[in-house]
Amino acid sequence: MSAPSSIVIIGSGLAGWTTVREFRKLDKTTPIVMFTTDNGDFYAKPSLSNALSDQRSPAQLVTTPAAKMAETQNVTLHAHTPVRSIDTAAKTVTTDAGVTPYSRLVLATGAQQIKLPLQGNAVAEVLSVNSLADFAVFHERLLGAAADAPKKHVLIMGAGLIGCEFANDLAATGHTVRVVDLSPRPLAALLPADASEQLQAALSGLGVQWHFGTSVQSIDREGAALQVTLANGDKVQADLVLSAVGLRADTALAHAAGITCERGVLADELLQTNVVDVYSVGDGTAYASAQGRTLPYVMPIMQAARTLAGVLAGQPKPLVFPLMPVGIKTPIYPLVVALPAPGTPGAWVLAEEGVWQFKDGEVQRGFVLSGAQTKRRAEQSQLTQA
Ligand SMILES: Cc1cc2nc3c(=O)[nH]c(=O)nc-3n(C[C@H](O)[C@H](O)[C@H](O)COP(=O)(O)OP(=O)(O)OC[C@H]3O[C@@H](n4cnc5c(N)ncnc54)[C@H](O)[C@@H]3O)c2cc1C
Repeated sequence: MSAPSSIVIIGSGLAGWTTVREFRKLDKTTPIVMFTTDNGDFYAKPSLSNALSDQRSPAQLVTTPAAKMAETQNVTLHAHTPVRSIDTAAKTVTTDAGVTPYSRLVLATGAQQIKLPLQGNAVAEVLSVNSLADFAVFHERLLGAAADAPKKHVLIMGAGLIGCEFANDLAATGHTVRVVDLSPRPLAALLPADASEQLQAALSGLGVQWHFGTSVQSIDREGAALQVTLANGDKVQADLVLSAVGLRADTALAHAAGITCERGVLADELLQTNVVDVYSVGDGTAYASAQGRTLPYVMPIMQAARTLAGVLAGQPKPLVFPLMPVGIKTPIYPLVVALPAPGTPGAWVLAEEGVWQFKDGEVQRGFVLSGAQTKRRAEQSQLTQA
């Protein structure tokens, strides 16, 4: 299936394809074989949570089709071909199509949506969106084939980044939105309390209804509607339930192969795992360069993929993450967030309207910008010592 000197990459998400693109800038000829459970199309995953407002269909979100990516990047792509196991002693991967040798192996297997243990006869109908294929199912269930389909009642589980972005997108396009979360406010883990309250107020202004301090207990189909029972006893109806309760690094394949995994596949500053010639990058990775944290965002992936490409091309340089602010796509109340590392001493201080700084004495360790202040990302980044 491939020459023994091939680099084998598992995963065709941003991490897999960016590693390929960066590597091809340094090395045009080493054979690359990519296996993916997806169809291999290249798309920007962040666009999934504002595609409705942008009036883009799943097909329109593909930026480069798989065949074009494979051709331009000189990659042998095996789409819809999950890797079942890795033999690190023999240096092979096994799929349903056979056994493929590798010289170097890159794990870019991403993360999986966390599935909460729920009761009821309609649990299988809960949707989540962590890929273009997931979004296609969501889009179809939301809008069907008719352009003038009636607007739906959507219940979102989770008021984190993805839950809030979908709440904004759905409410802005005329759907009725309820959000359920155990925490007392949206984005409670990321934002200072007053920023979170302002986000809540802005989304409420779009019609979003909140159920805080509780969780979904059971989901049952009753005729055309889903009956959702919350832990506090409330019962609400919905046409669709979208789970956005968080992602967990997908480590099953690596773990079964004896590769060390903690919160993700453990990768050192050159993206190497504990097993020789096996590397990891993307949402499935716990980075030594980030004190063993996973960093499930675009900017860290771009940075890590560039480092990994250099390592694979024989130009190793240790991965150092710069400050990487994340833009939150809630257009009704846009936010940019640069969090301090967990455990950093200090507290949030409101510096001026729409600017919060995380201060450790006089030293700024993070910031949150909202509304028109989001354009001050570069200035605030310069003031921040990570
Ligand atoms: C709705 C949404 C909005 C987001 N918005 C933002 C944003 O605004 N800003 C930001 O910075 N980040 C955002 N993110 C996060 C960002 O999109 C992700 O960090 C990034 O896309 C992850 O890329 P990845 O390649 O690591 O993982 P994935 O995209 O999950 O790719 C993993 C790949 O591995 C393949 N795979 C897994 N197991 C196997 C196997 N055994 N065999 C073969 N293939 C396998 C899968 O098929 C897939 O191709 C968002 C995420 C979501 C879901």
